[in-house]
Amino acid sequence: MRLTFIYPVYPTQEQETTLERWLDHLCELQNSARHDRLVAYETEGVFVSLSDQQSLLKTARETYDDFREVPQDFQNHALRRNDKAFTAFRKRCKENAEKKGYPRYKKRVRSLTWSLRKYTKVVRKKTKDPEKQTIRVRENPIIETTFRHNRLKVPKLGEVKIRMHRPLQGDPKEVTLVKKASGWYAHISCDIEDTPKVEPTDAIAVDVGTIHYLTTSEGETEDNPRWYRQAEGLLRKHSKDLSRKKKGSNRRKKQQHKLALHHERTVNRRKDFIGKLVYKLYHHQKNNVLVAENLNTSNMVKNKHLSKSISDASWSTFFEWCGNIAERDGFHFHQVDPKNTSQTCSACGEKSQKKLSLAIRTFNCQFCGTSLDRDHNAALNILLRAACALRGERWVTDLTETRNKNEARDTGLQNARQLLLFATGTSL
Ligand SMILES: [Zn+2]
Repeated sequence: MRLTFIYPVYPTQEQETTLERWLDHLCELQNSARHDRLVAYETEGVFVSLSDQQSLLKTARETYDDFREVPQDFQNHALRRNDKAFTAFRKRCKENAEKKGYPRYKKRVRSLTWSLRKYTKVVRKKTKDPEKQTIRVRENPIIETTFRHNRLKVPKLGEVKIRMHRPLQGDPKEVTLVKKASGWYAHISCDIEDTPKVEPTDAIAVDVGTIHYLTTSEGETEDNPRWYRQAEGLLRKHSKDLSRKKKGSNRRKKQQHKLALHHERTVNRRKDFIGKLVYKLYHHQKNNVLVAENLNTSNMVKNKHLSKSISDASWSTFFEWCGNIAERDGFHFHQVDPKNTSQTCSACGEKSQKKLSLAIRTFNCQFCGTSLDRDHNAALNILLRAACALRGERWVTDLTETRNKNEARDTGLQNARQLLLFATGTSL
């Protein structure tokens, strides 16, 4: 699998000027590549290919000095980025989507990417006979030093200070330098070997919500920190201050930076929380199977009453990270259809006759009298549904089908945790 390690880098003032000049150049390049493609599409209805543009780039590099000054790898990656946007656009055109969505004009580019190549190295064997052997080695982007900071090799720029706060693992393939409000960062993506999956023994299901961030099938809850709501006050102040600064002034620039820092901090806090939460679910609570619902958040944010809370919670990041950590550490992550999970009784499987609104926080079953917290009930249902899916059964919710209820309850097994244990060997 691919893992990306992020380290802060500290370019000197001189290096930073060069890097910023390169970013401007790449932005121009990317926009002109976009323009060419759009003109070709609108006038003749043809799609320009990536290789065409790359050969154009080659000619440009032979003709102009300012093209030669920037490493070709950066330019190629900029073209590739543009190509990616157009591939998606082409797909939308084919599907005859109502909104084709032209790739947008980029106001600025914030990152430089280059690939690390393999080269042939001659190795002399240490034995007496001077036998030579050649091997293919990937170039190492890091130069280790005995000082506090190691050095990162950047093409045509030289060595830049990098703080390696954790060791790099695997085979580094690609480096991206990103400019953020708080400084520069190097994203080094490495190929690492796949971790073998562990035998599933302990399963837990989570139901996400806006009141509590999540409720587990054990009935535990995690508070929702509501970062955006916390940040809102200061955000308003910074934005107001910004609007009062004269356009083009130095003070406006400073204020812009302040605002950008504030946004970055909010994002970092959110990521920090989610990362720790996922780690807690897997490692601290010793679960190796995690089940969640498969929510379509892009539809949910259309609800104007909930959109802010839902975007703020960023559940999609949470689910994504659950999957990523599971892949990295050999655990299992499974997503199930969320339909009716909050409307059904987890004890008897009957669906509530009346639709429960979000305001009702306790689930009271009219059939068996079970009274449970709404989210806890939903989490249990999610776990049950995953257990059934694992055994190839259908999770029955319709009242008409209650008589031939799924085998899960007929076998007398009390809860889904046992069911999951029952089915070891099948991978989720
Ligand atoms: Zn019931």
